[in-house]
Formats: sequence, structure tokens, C-alpha cells
Amino acid sequence: MFKAVFVEEKGRPARVAELDEGALMPGDVTIRVAWSTLNYKDGLALTARSPVVRAFPMIPGIDLAGTVESSADPRFRPGDGVVLNGAGLGETHFGGLAQRARVAGEPLVHIPAPFGPREAAAIGTAGFTAMLCLLALERHGLPPGAGEVLVTGAAGGVGSVALALLARRGYRVVASTGRTHEADYLRELGASRLLDRADLAAPGKPLGPERWAGVIDTVGSTTLANACAQTRADGAVAACGLAGGMDFPSTVAPFILRGVTLYGICSVNAPRARREEAWARLAQDLDPATLGAMSREIGLGETLAVAPEILEGKVRGRLVVDVNR
Ligand code: NDP
Repeated sequence: MFKAVFVEEKGRPARVAELDEGALMPGDVTIRVAWSTLNYKDGLALTARSPVVRAFPMIPGIDLAGTVESSADPRFRPGDGVVLNGAGLGETHFGGLAQRARVAGEPLVHIPAPFGPREAAAIGTAGFTAMLCLLALERHGLPPGAGEVLVTGAAGGVGSVALALLARRGYRVVASTGRTHEADYLRELGASRLLDRADLAAPGKPLGPERWAGVIDTVGSTTLANACAQTRADGAVAACGLAGGMDFPSTVAPFILRGVTLYGICSVNAPRARREEAWARLAQDLDPATLGAMSREIGLGETLAVAPEILEGKVRGRLVVDVNR
């Protein structure tokens, strides 16, 4: 038997349940999960505010980190430390908010040193996505000296890791946030200055002053439209989120008059090679001490009460879930 957050059927509230290992879904690798996380998407799933869960019954949780118990995939052996982000976890396949998981080997990644399972979970989908955004900006050819790079939703999970990663690589980073009282936290992560998120929230002109060499946007909607309108000629915007809304009220002006490139970032279905590349870079670029400063620990049973907080933008950085507590 193992403990898990469980949603029995559509419309039923999530609860902590004891499940039989025989209930696990088919997969190549069985994992003793140690840590999971709460991302924005998990908040949506646990509060049933958005159709994140697409098969019932379901164990939510889009991240897991733990130790391989058994494996039919030759790439993994019992005792290996592994991490999995997205790939249907908590949506169509039993997810990470559980003490056990059985998953496909293909998207599973070995946790790279110096991280252990707790650090891998603290990074989670948020950190993985932040790195995918940085890799997109790098592939675009954005050098650290190019000018200011804007990060929106900066005090959130993706935003916090994005700030730290960009600053570590030498970019001058501007943190757009609604939580200006978190100035010390954001500066410690590497923000060179703060921007009140209200400055990007009102509908703007098709083209604004050229401010940003690059952008990592977690907010979407008018914020993303304004970020594109303020991006410098030939600059790049990596869009990964919708914390402010799913719409995109932009014009084509930034793209056809300034050659701005908009990259869409999807972590869920990232191919194995991209996952390995991103995790190798996270191990290189992210200081475990920085991770400690941006993460808060909760127990499995607390996830249900804490889920609404992340949707209300009240969670700073990352929430790490001890599935054995
Ligand atoms: P968090 O809730 O941790 O962070 C979101 C941040 O956005 C908040 O902390 C807040 O930052 C800001 N924010 C919240 N509401 C609003 C609003 N109404 N208007 C403007 N800003 C707002 O979430 P995550 O970091 O986990 O995820 C961020 C977004 O990225 C989510 O939309 C999520 O679904 C998406 N995402 C997408 C992925 C992908 O693969 N494409 C993977 C991971 C996440 P502040 O207080 O600093 O203003």
C-alpha cells in the first residue's frame, strides 16, 4: 500500500488515500517517490479550476523525484536517482503526489550531481521550463551583454529560477512582479532592478520603446503583448505561461517591423535529448544554496490546503512536497 493524493472521478474533490501498488498504471520503471512539487498547474488540478486532469481516477502531480525500485528499461537500475517532469504525469498518467509511481522510461532523467531528489524536485517543472526558455534565448543567439532581459511573474516558480539562471550566466535581468515587497528576495536571486507588473498589465501600443534584448514570460495576455511590443529589433521572447490569462492581444507589428521572434516553450512533451540537455545545464548553472532560498517544504496532506495559494499568486518561489510526511 502507498499514500497518494487521489481524485476518484471528475467533479470529486482530491483527497489523500491509501492505494494498492497493483493500482499503478503500466510503465517500465517503478519508482519510490521521495519528493514532488506544487506547480501552478497542480494548483489548477487540485482545485479542479481547469481541466488539467484528463483521465479518471487520477493521482495529480506533474513532477516526481525519487529512487528506482525496479526497471524493465535498461537505462535504469534499482537505486538510481531519477526525476520526471510533465510527460502526462498527473494529467493522463498517475502523477507525483504519491509514494510510488510507475512510468515510461523514455522521458525519465537521471538526477545529475550535485543534486539529490530534493533539489531535483525543488527545480521541478518550473526550473526545467525556465531552463528551456534560457536555451531558446541562447539558440536565438542572445549573448549576456546584449542588454536587459525581462522576466515576468518573477517571484513565482518559473520566474525565480529564470532570474537565477540568467543572472548566473551574466545577463542583466529585470524582474517584473506584483510583489515589490519581495525586492530583497528578487535581488538576491539576481535581479538588477524591479518593474511593477502593473506597468505591463494595461493594453499598450503595437510598438513601444525598445527596452528588452530578450524576455522570459510566464504571464501571457497583455503582459506578453506589451513585452513583445517593447522588445528590441531582432530580440527574442520565450513565452511559457498564462498566469495572467490565456489570451494574447498583440499585433504583428513587433514581428514584421522589428524582427522580434516569439518562442513557445512546452515542457510537457519535451523529447528526451532536450530533457537531458536542460538537466545537465541546470546542474551546471544552478547553485543548490540558491534553490534552498527559493523553496518551501510541505507534506503530502498539506497540498490540498495550499493549492489555492499558488493560483492566487501567493506562493514565493517553489513548493516542495515531502510525500512521506
Ligand atoms: P507561480 O504561481 O509560481 O508563478 C506565477 C507568477 O505569475 C506569480 O507568482 C506572480 O508573480 C505572477 N502572476 C500571478 N497572477 C498574475 C496576474 N493575474 N497578472 C500578472 N502576473 C501574475 O506559477 P509557475 O511559476 O509554476 O508557472 C508560471 C506559469 O507558467 C503558469 O501559467 C504555468 O501554467 C506556466 N507553466 C508552463 C509550462 C510550460 O511547459 N509551458 C511549465 C511550467 C509552468 P509576481 O508575484 O512576481 O507578480
